[in-house]
Amino acid sequence: MGCAGLSLAVHMIRSGKFSNKKILLIDKEKKEKNDRTWCFWETGKGAFEEVVYRRWDNAWFHADHFSELLDLSPYQYKMIRGIDYYTFCLDIIKAETGFDIVYAPVEEFQHHQDSASVRAGGVTYQANFIFNSILLDLPQVRNGKYYLLQHFKGWIIETENDCFTPDEATLMDFRPSQEYGTTFVYVMPFSPKSALVEYTLFSTSLLSEEKYTAGLNEYLSAYLNISQYKVVEEEFGIIPMTNHRFKTSEGRIINLGTAGGQTKASSGYTYRFIQKNSVNIVESLIKYGDPFHIKNRGKKRFDWYDSVLLNILNYKKLEGSFIFRQLFKKNRPEVILKFLDNETSIAEEFRLLNTLPQWPFMKAGVAEFFK
Ligand SMILES: Cc1cc2nc3c(=O)[nH]c(=O)nc-3n(C[C@H](O)[C@H](O)[C@H](O)COP(=O)(O)OP(=O)(O)OC[C@H]3O[C@@H](n4cnc5c(N)ncnc54)[C@H](O)[C@@H]3O)c2cc1C
Repeated sequence: MGCAGLSLAVHMIRSGKFSNKKILLIDKEKKEKNDRTWCFWETGKGAFEEVVYRRWDNAWFHADHFSELLDLSPYQYKMIRGIDYYTFCLDIIKAETGFDIVYAPVEEFQHHQDSASVRAGGVTYQANFIFNSILLDLPQVRNGKYYLLQHFKGWIIETENDCFTPDEATLMDFRPSQEYGTTFVYVMPFSPKSALVEYTLFSTSLLSEEKYTAGLNEYLSAYLNISQYKVVEEEFGIIPMTNHRFKTSEGRIINLGTAGGQTKASSGYTYRFIQKNSVNIVESLIKYGDPFHIKNRGKKRFDWYDSVLLNILNYKKLEGSFIFRQLFKKNRPEVILKFLDNETSIAEEFRLLNTLPQWPFMKAGVAEFFK
């Protein structure tokens, strides 16, 4: 009942083709906390437009010696609060007679010839298919693969004075110190007096609690000129940035979300990939009676681009802040966002990659190609 499980359930219900099925949802916890916010970009209305909390047409990009307010059209940058998404999806699901919900910890999965089973809270359930979004074991990352972490601490703050321009978000601000790895802050303003400010790093290890707090404080005072504020909500997250290939299925157990490899290795963005995957699974179920006919799964060249960037970041061949600055300085935001969505054409990718330093990218590209 996280992002991917609820998305799939809602897409199934909306298709109207599963009303004769019995579907069980299992989660270890009731989804009653605002445990995360999802930011993503899309054109037009999305599948969960009803719960979009804020949207922005313009966003700043900052790095040393380069600052620009980007016009994101035809995309909008959107934000969904976890709690709104959970409540919205569960209301739709609870109104369906074919769905049951069990709150219990999942202990084990098993796949059989024509079915799969899951043990949760000591009870075993058997089904035609299981859609799993739980990483029961951390992946064993083999030699030649990278496993960086995107880790972040965010505060929703309220200020006494007007400090924010509500229709201008900050997508990435690389001006803070880069001493602990690729570091940026993003700012999502809700009103002139309130915003989500998130201190984010791409690196191999986590920081101590105080360092995230110091990073946030430093940013608020040095770049936003804010000294008086109240923290009203806090979030902390770790997203794997890895070119490890997560299993997409094992027999009749189909892995979803981060556990199914839906997190983009070079950016950590997952939400939009989850939504696209749900649409594909539902289409496959309706057309073929199974979830295995997924189109677009193999746009292999995007995996390669991701590996190349991870290679460069991992071996510190170039600074992440420098790479993103080049991208945003020399390309239209529309093309960058499309590229990060794995949706560009080869011609667009060629032009975009040409704006990056060629020698380190070529060397990393060849190394990753032959792995
Ligand atoms: C704080 C945070 C912020 C993020 N922000 C963004 C963002 O802005 N944009 C973006 O694209 N991505 C973002 N991500 C990455 C990604 O989109 C989210 O992690 C997303 O929730 C992944 O969806 P999921 O379904 O794979 O996993 P989850 O949403 O984590 O769902 C997994 C579910 O499994 C349940 N579960 C876990 N273990 C067990 C068990 N043993 N038994 C039973 N149930 C269990 C959990 O309770 C949870 O409900 C963020 C991640 C975090 C952690």
